[in-house]
Amino acid sequence: QSQELSQVQIDYHAALQALVEDGTRMVCTGRMHTDRICRFESLCYSTEAEEFVYFHSNSSVMLPNLGSRRFQPALLDLSSVEDHNTQYFNFVELPAAALKFMPKPVFVPDVALIANRFNPDNLMHVFHDDLLPIYYTMQQFSDLDLEARLFFMEGWSEGVHFDLYKLLSNKQPLLREQLKTLGRLLCFTKSYVGLSKITTWYQYGFVQPQGPKANILVSGNEIRQFTKFMMQKLNVSLEESSSEEYIVVFSRTINRLILNEAELILALAQEFQMKTITVSLEEHSFSDIVRLISNASMLVSMHGAQLVMSLFLPRGATVVELFPYAINPEHYTPYKTLATLPGMDLQYIAWQNTDREDTVTYPDRPWDQGGIAHLDKAEQERIIKSTEVPRHLCCRNPEGAPPPPPCRNPEWLFRAYQDTKVNIPSLIHVIRQTVKSKPGPKKQKWSASLYPGKVRDAKCQASVQGTSEAKLAVSWQIPWNLKYLKVREVKYEVWIQEQGENTYMPYILSHQNHTFSENIKPFTIYLVWIRCIFNKNLLGPFADVLLCST
Ligand code: UDP
Repeated sequence: QSQELSQVQIDYHAALQALVEDGTRMVCTGRMHTDRICRFESLCYSTEAEEFVYFHSNSSVMLPNLGSRRFQPALLDLSSVEDHNTQYFNFVELPAAALKFMPKPVFVPDVALIANRFNPDNLMHVFHDDLLPIYYTMQQFSDLDLEARLFFMEGWSEGVHFDLYKLLSNKQPLLREQLKTLGRLLCFTKSYVGLSKITTWYQYGFVQPQGPKANILVSGNEIRQFTKFMMQKLNVSLEESSSEEYIVVFSRTINRLILNEAELILALAQEFQMKTITVSLEEHSFSDIVRLISNASMLVSMHGAQLVMSLFLPRGATVVELFPYAINPEHYTPYKTLATLPGMDLQYIAWQNTDREDTVTYPDRPWDQGGIAHLDKAEQERIIKSTEVPRHLCCRNPEGAPPPPPCRNPEWLFRAYQDTKVNIPSLIHVIRQTVKSKPGPKKQKWSASLYPGKVRDAKCQASVQGTSEAKLAVSWQIPWNLKYLKVREVKYEVWIQEQGENTYMPYILSHQNHTFSENIKPFTIYLVWIRCIFNKNLLGPFADVLLCST
């Protein structure tokens, strides 16, 4: 991977003339700063001012043209974390004529993706906030191919996982600091700014306590397409006929330790009659960890960023997350949410240490490793006595500006960095409630969940008997896609609503016709809504409403 910008020879004078004459052009997608990605031609960056620059000329374009709303609060989020006020993107404006008085621009010939990484030293953040969003932003725009170049503007150094970012394109990603070495005024020939949030599943608690995102839009299928790409780049092949089944214990070696790890490994091996191995980020290469996890039947680990590696588990595997004392598993669910995404097909189990005897605390460590010695005595005592960390916001300081992680809540950090002696019988009991026989990939045929189309040719026929009784015979044809599918169970849901009423009578039916007589009145107009349901929970769309008069 070469670091110098220009393999492509560009005609410098032509490029400069085009910039002066045409200025910057921007067209964006998205209605709000939180869902916006912008495509630019001739976006520039002043490495002295550390500002992006938009040059106005007769040919420049700015869509959306927001006027000063561009600053309320920003044009777009530069990271995939929603509306974080340290991650905003904007540019300053200049007339193209000002170029005469500026440093000579250096042109970036590669198609650029310009974004912020959120927390590049934490593996969970690396995957959730950066790698998956970058991968799918690149999938969204066809000129962001493997020849595109990533520009990380958050200002961090490479970080411990930089090799993973390098897998996403054939060109060396560039950091904000490195731009200075390229020139005083950089102009990106073609660039995209911002990241897609479509794959993120978790919010970190800046506005409300952390939890799954309200509207998750990603399924296991897209996650696996991404992991397949990463595994190809890492040269890890998926072993189809894995010979032996095994359990992986992902251990931490610096903090939040499992104190009786050897005992735990023996117990798991014995209980499930499987080889049990340990891995850690400190002792194994990333490729080795991926290779081992991608064939494992079960992954057992303390709560922590390393659990994001369950991305690489095979379908049908089990994730067991261990929580230290006083940390309620229901309040910290990034890995539960991941494992239970639709179509991820992982089993998720949480275990919590509920015994004070089995926890080791570190009140005298620095605050960011859970120390509480800096707090006043009463607060220290309250924290030590407490049996559960109350739900809390992340990282919000008094000025309301969320600084980057870790979350600055001393009680949470104190509890999160405890070591734990795992109570083996209690853990095995919890696992056994979910995993009845052997854990791990069953020889199961996975089928995608396909939804029915609309029912077709719906008709109704009314018959009136006397002045108080009537019947409504309704019939319809199967959805068009059903004849190409093998579906275990096909049912129809019919709603009968009297015109002008808010309520309706719902029915679940197995056949394509039914005569309704209950509560059907003569000389009345009914609205009939019909939809098809596959396998109990795959609800299709309603067909156009049917108007039936008795
Ligand atoms: N980490 C690790 N071993 C340790 C402690 C941390 O591998 O003993 C890794 C962890 O997986 C994460 C990073 O170091 O990628 C930062 O850990 P931290 O405890 O700050 O974050 P958390 O795991 O709680 O998200």
